[in-house]
Amino acid sequence: MLIAQIVFDDFTDVDVFLAWDLLNRVRVRARRPDWRVELLGTEAQHRSVSGLTLPMHGRIEEAAAADAVLFASGPATRELRFDREYLARFALDPTRQLIGSMCSGALLLAALGLLEGKRATTHPTAAPLLREAGIEVVDAPFVRQGNIATAAACLAGVELSAWVIEVLLGKDARDAVLAEVQPVGRPFQPADPPFQPAAESPLEPSGDALYRGSCLCKAIEYELHAELGDFGYCHCTSCRKASGTAHGSNSPVDRARFRLLRGASVLREHESSPGKFRTFCSSCGSPIYAYLASSPDVLRIRLGSLDTPFTKQARAHTFVSDKAPWEDIVDEVPQFAEWAPRSVLHQRGSRQRET
Ligand SMILES: [Zn+2]
Ligand SMILES: [Zn+2]
Repeated sequence: MLIAQIVFDDFTDVDVFLAWDLLNRVRVRARRPDWRVELLGTEAQHRSVSGLTLPMHGRIEEAAAADAVLFASGPATRELRFDREYLARFALDPTRQLIGSMCSGALLLAALGLLEGKRATTHPTAAPLLREAGIEVVDAPFVRQGNIATAAACLAGVELSAWVIEVLLGKDARDAVLAEVQPVGRPFQPADPPFQPAAESPLEPSGDALYRGSCLCKAIEYELHAELGDFGYCHCTSCRKASGTAHGSNSPVDRARFRLLRGASVLREHESSPGKFRTFCSSCGSPIYAYLASSPDVLRIRLGSLDTPFTKQARAHTFVSDKAPWEDIVDEVPQFAEWAPRSVLHQRGSRQRET
């Protein structure tokens, strides 16, 4: 595997070094002796904005053969984006290559036509230039659409490198590398989870939504364009931990009927068990929904996040065998030691089996 880093004069040091360091750890940490990282430029060496000179491994034409190509940033991107000869030397193909940029490197992706119809992020100082190029710029550390990703500002290079490793070698390889560099006690949390809703900039609420909801701090607001399905009270240990109270109360809706009005950049996901993602607000901690990787089109909405009155009645208490000793269940709703049968409570988008 070949990872190419595109370098030019006056490059921003950290935007090259951070990815260079992380990506080079892959060979040992992920046991991939075939993994190579190369710095490619137009000269035999390039000088950073702070005056360090780096020898290049090759010329930018060689990026055409790489599995991933990452563009650095720096003041030179402002001119290089108009340099037709320079741009013509790249023969990149996003159908078979991962292509990413740091900060103002996004200007080069745009100039190469790689961001057409896509959202992107860039360093705030380059954002107006990227907008002028007709690209929708979003306020997020990392934006990935298919095989193209943009990261901003410099420390988001961790996200960009993590993305390359994860897509090419899997999550275990990614985690093996990041475990070495993450600050102690702060595990890596991807900024752009696998199935994040598309909306990034605030949208106008629509008049025909059936439900509106939000997190505690209101950074996240959403609306639902379909009736919510059956719900029950789940007393399992994970639901108690995730909700901070005696049970979870969650109801399914199709992802296509969920519209995120604001807050994509603060939405985070926690994979609480393999393939199960719990989505929450990273600024206030409110849970919003959960879903399974095996059924990503169904979201299980956390009913506590609804603002619109919700008047359905619960159909079952489930996982009562796990219930907190301090909770007394005093209603008439049927109780089940674990899952309820589907005839009583159909939990779409959960791990409930056919019964
Ligand atoms: Zn919040
Ligand atoms: Zn549960």
